[in-house]
Amino acid sequence: MKYNQPRLPYPVDALQPVISARTVDFHYGKHEKAYIDTLNSLIEGTEYADMSLEEIIVKSDGKLFNNAAQAWNHIFYFFQFAPDGLKEPTGRLKEKIDEQFGSFEEFKKKFEEAGATLFGSGWVWLSCDDKGELYITQGGNASNPMTDGLRPLLTFDVWEHAYYLDYQNKRADYLHRLWDIVDWDIIGIRYS
Ligand code: MN
Repeated sequence: MKYNQPRLPYPVDALQPVISARTVDFHYGKHEKAYIDTLNSLIEGTEYADMSLEEIIVKSDGKLFNNAAQAWNHIFYFFQFAPDGLKEPTGRLKEKIDEQFGSFEEFKKKFEEAGATLFGSGWVWLSCDDKGELYITQGGNASNPMTDGLRPLLTFDVWEHAYYLDYQNKRADYLHRLWDIVDWDIIGIRYS
């Protein structure tokens, strides 16, 4: 097995009440594990076995892309949270958000809207290009902005499995609450 599922940097109940222990257990413990297990079985003995996960995402399609991207996306999603993280961006990232979106509040509104209006399953992303310009994008299923040459900074999972146990059909409520657990220290490190 090439890829092992990394242990979360916080206890399973640390994100409550925003994300319940039960959701973390199912979402990370079962859904994410299945993507990694399938990824491992698909690459074994193929040209992809020696590539980095990022390379696989950019170069593959179909079932391999779906499982590779989902494996990567979920680690990126769960590792951006902390129960006592930094609640707002600082430094250059804060300046850039203010410059491009008007304010942090306006940015959050736009990001939530992108998540709420995505039809079906997928992800909403904040990414940057090589010049540090920021982009909010939404993409269906296993999409990842790396395939468009962007560098992901922040993502909200809008598959129903991410919120249904805690919020049922209220996706907008789930998106709005996630800001309480995003650690902007981590997003700032990704940006720099
Ligand atoms: Mn998910």
